[in-house]
Amino acid sequence: MYTITKEVYFCYGHRLMNHKGKCKNLHGHSVKASISIQQEQLNEQGMVCDFSDIKELVTSYIDQNLDHNFLLHKDDPLIPLLTQQKERFMAIDEHPTAEVLSKMIYQYLKQQGLNVDKVVLWETASASACYQEN
Ligand SMILES: [Zn+2]
Repeated sequence: MYTITKEVYFCYGHRLMNHKGKCKNLHGHSVKASISIQQEQLNEQGMVCDFSDIKELVTSYIDQNLDHNFLLHKDDPLIPLLTQQKERFMAIDEHPTAEVLSKMIYQYLKQQGLNVDKVVLWETASASACYQEN
C-alpha cells in the first residue's frame, strides 16, 4: 500500500457551546490539515495521485467553506445576530471541533473520488485530531 500526504493551511473562528473551559469564548485558529491518500497500485506516472490534484480539490472546499469563516453549531444563539449583521458564518449540525472539521474534509474528498486514508487537523502545534474510516 502506498500513501502520500499533502498539507494545507487555513484559518477559522469558532466557539464550542457548553464547553467548560475557554473554548466557549469566541476565538480563532490558524491550522494545518494533513491529507493522506492511499493506493495499492501506482498510476502510469508512478504516483498515488498528483499532489496538485489533492491541493486543488481541498483548497476549493476549504476556501468556500472553512477559510476565514466563523464556524458555529446550528443552535448557537449568535446566529440570528450574525445573520442580521450580514456576517459570514457556517452553521453545522455538530460542534465545530477539530475532530468534526477533519471528518468534513475527509468526506468531501471521498465524495470527489479520492481514496482518502485519513485527514489530520492540527489545531495548534501540539494538538491534532484525526478522522479515518478504514
Ligand atoms: Zn478552538
